[in-house]
Amino acid sequence: MTDNVLELRDLSKSFGGVVANDAITLDVARGAIVGLIGPNGSGKTTLFNSIAGQHRTDRGSVRFDGHPLAGMMVPEIARLGLARTFQQAHVYSGMTCIQNMQVSTSHAGEKPGAMLEKIPSRVTDKGFELLDFVGLADAHDQSAGTLSYGQRKLLEFAMALMSEPTLLLLDEPTAGVNPTMIGSVLETLRGANRSLGITLVVIEHNMRVVMELADRIHCLARGRLLASGTPEDIRSDARVIDAYLGAQ
Ligand code: ADP
Ligand code: MG
Repeated sequence: MTDNVLELRDLSKSFGGVVANDAITLDVARGAIVGLIGPNGSGKTTLFNSIAGQHRTDRGSVRFDGHPLAGMMVPEIARLGLARTFQQAHVYSGMTCIQNMQVSTSHAGEKPGAMLEKIPSRVTDKGFELLDFVGLADAHDQSAGTLSYGQRKLLEFAMALMSEPTLLLLDEPTAGVNPTMIGSVLETLRGANRSLGITLVVIEHNMRVVMELADRIHCLARGRLLASGTPEDIRSDARVIDAYLGAQ
């Protein structure tokens, strides 16, 4: 029996007349790197929002690490070990990188964003460690607003790791990133998967990247799960070529 860290059953979400997710059923195996692809507007970000508790879904269920998430909202789900990053990196541009790390998680019952002077030293140590992990150690004192787009994505990724998540949902981690930096982003994602044991679900538009990174890929089209399989399966799937790859 496979050990699934995430199980979606019949998950559905509409906005007015738009069916953004239509009865999505899929499993994510523990330890895997899973790719989520599909045309713009096919419902990928909505699916992340549905899983992470960003909005109430219309139908269906999410089971994460053995917990049914029905009725839970973002902070509670995050505390169970589910973290996510956004298409437009969410960082505090007025703060330095290390300050972003310090405020990115709740420690010992404190609210996220608690006063910086109350941050325990072990949190700061871990912040430095993770900045080093994503290659931003030299920028620790630099204001996040001065970082390149790719560096901001890496900072947000490091911030997500502060809570030691079991599962990390990444929304287009390489979009807008300088092509010369994509390789290092990929290495960092792989490192988090292999050495920290974090399961990753990655929304990715760059086909070369997702084919290289993912063990398994799911393709959405018009809110529905169109196809699932290995990168090889997906690359040669006539429905995927028709709905997505052909148009690229
Ligand atoms: P993707 O991430 O695959 O590009 P999205 O999940 O962002 O797609 O969007 C899927 C569909 O749902 C689109 O038609 C989009 O316009 C619609 N949608 C997403 N979020 C909202 C929202 N908050 N309000 C209204 N419509 C939305
Ligand atoms: Mg999106």
